[in-house]
This record gives sequence, structure tokens and C-alpha cells, in this order.
Amino acid sequence: MTSNVAAASEALKALVAAPISVMEVCGTHTVSIFRSGIRSLLPPQLRLVSGPGCPVCVTDQGEIDCALSLLETGAVVAAYGDMFRVPGKTGSLASKRSAGFDARLVTSASDVLTIAEKEPRKEVVFLAVGFETTAPATAALVLEASVRNIANLSVLSFHKRTPPALKALSADPSLALSGFLLPGHVSVILGHEPFRFLSDLHGIPAVIAGFDPEQIMLGLVTIALQKRKGEAALRSVYGQAVRPEGNTKARELMESVFISKDASWRGLGVLPDSGLALRDGFSRFDAEKRFELSCTPGEAPAGCRCGEVLTGRIAPTECPLFRTVCTPVSPVGPCMVSGEGTCGAYFRYQRANGGER
Ligand code: SF4
Repeated sequence: MTSNVAAASEALKALVAAPISVMEVCGTHTVSIFRSGIRSLLPPQLRLVSGPGCPVCVTDQGEIDCALSLLETGAVVAAYGDMFRVPGKTGSLASKRSAGFDARLVTSASDVLTIAEKEPRKEVVFLAVGFETTAPATAALVLEASVRNIANLSVLSFHKRTPPALKALSADPSLALSGFLLPGHVSVILGHEPFRFLSDLHGIPAVIAGFDPEQIMLGLVTIALQKRKGEAALRSVYGQAVRPEGNTKARELMESVFISKDASWRGLGVLPDSGLALRDGFSRFDAEKRFELSCTPGEAPAGCRCGEVLTGRIAPTECPLFRTVCTPVSPVGPCMVSGEGTCGAYFRYQRANGGER
């Protein structure tokens, strides 16, 4: 523990007199909090709850089943790592690949372009999942495919927008959230303004913070100070990394290819304007249209309470399947699969680093 973290811990103990609940929105925050043992440094009145900032976790079950159904057409389905192991109704991309279907692991959107160019006789579909951080790379892929006139590439866009999810959470009185630790990476792209409604409309302090323990503790102290003074403001402690206006080039890139659409989130249901669809000018790259898919919301695996975990309603330990049936080796839901998932973080760090709280 650094001296700054220790000082922040003491400051929090002095500042937080009444119970408060702060949501760390981002899965990277969640993992950093568990790995560094931050929960054990907090006063008992400060409750940290994990939010919906793991893109794999919030992907609706019906969206996963839709991607799996594409394999049956003979198409190549390319996806980032964690999506591979998320169970759907008929298996996962990984188990389907073992069964002979053509699912491919990619580490960047541009890998998909390479596959499509090398194998022009195959339909290649990119399973595009993620928030405003990854959507610009998908937009660049679509633009490049358009310029090169690649006919066998399409995108199954399940990208999600962060602000509508926070809107839903902040308006839910049952959650009684006292503050938000906002996602640093998303804020780099969006800047400050899309989050200002949290403080100005809902009266909830919101702080943009980076991911190391000092940043997280500073963010919590900034929220606690506001609560103590009875104030609510949007603040950033992430320094130069987040400009108030965000990354305008990345946003322009995203907006040139995508338009917002209603989307279904695990745990939150259908939220208006919370997804990203390809604009009409790029509809030839839209896998839902090309394959005439109808991706409707689906049922979570039996017994899995991932939707409640990622909205801060329960801790993973309250899921009866946690550690008994559901483990990282044999995950039932995405919250255990993903490297940013809360159940996985509890499983890995709970005992060692005081994650019980
Ligand atoms: S422990 Fe497993 S089954 Fe339970 S909520 Fe988490 S992912 Fe779902």
C-alpha cells in the first residue's frame, strides 16, 4: 500500500459517517479494486457495488444465441477472447469450434479484414461487442471494408452506449446509489458532458477516475467529500488522460458509421438509444440484415443471477451457483467468464483481499 492510498483510507474513515453506496461502473475498476484489496481499506459505512461496465457481461443472452446461430450457416464468426467462452443455448463459440464450426479468435478488428481478404469465398462476420472504447475500431473496420469493397465481411453490432445504462441505474430508487466512480477509458472518448446528468439531474456525485489504487481511492474521497458537504458535482481525477471534450476524432469516426438504437442489456432490459447500429449507408456490412437475423432478448442460463450482479443488486456470493456449480473453469454465466466480470473477480480475489464486503 502506498502512502497516498493509506492517507486516502484514513480520509475516508473520517469523512464517511453515514452509510453510502458507490458504484464502480467499469469492470477494470472492479478487478483493480479486488486485486489491490481496496475493499479492506474502506470504512464499514462505505459500500462499493459493481456496475455494468463489463461488455461481455452485459451482452444479452439472445445476442449470444444469435451469434452462435450464424455458425450454422457456415459463416466464419470472429470475436474477441472472452466472448468465446460465454455459454449460449447451444454451447459457446469455443465449444462450437471444437465441434468443427468456424469460430475464430481475433485480437483486433483489423484481424477480421485480413481473414475476409484471405478467404473471399467465406462469409466472415465480426461479433462486435463493447462500449465506446471499442466501437471506433469497429467503425474503422467498416470504413476500410467499404473502401476496399470487401463483399464477404459483415458486422454483428452489439456495441453498447454507457450513458443510457447509467441513466437507468441512477433513476432506480431501489438501488439508492450515492455516487458513481465513472469509467476512465470510456470517458477518454466521451469526455465529461455525457455524464453530467448524474449530478445535475439526479443529484448524485460522479467522479471520473483511472484504474490504479491511488486513482480509485482519490475518486472515492472526492465522492465522500461531496456527500459530506451535501453537494453533487461531476469531477475528474484522471488528469490529462480525459479531456473535457473527450476524443472528438474517435467520436466522429464512430458517428460516421453508427447510429444509436434501442438495445437489450443483461440485467437492465431494453434501454432506449443504448446500442449502436450501422447507418443505412453501410447496411451491406450489417450481419443482421445480410443473414436476416432477428436477435431478440433471451433467457439467462437457469439459476444464473449475473443480471443482478452487474446492476449491484446482489454480490456474487448470493448466487447459489457461485463456487459450487459456477467457476472460471466451468462458468455458467458471463460474469464468471470475463476477465472484467464481478463473479470472476470475487472468485479469484475474494478471500485473499477482503472481497467479502
Ligand atoms: S456465479 Fe455464475 S451463475 Fe452465479 S451470477 Fe455469477 S456467473 Fe451467474
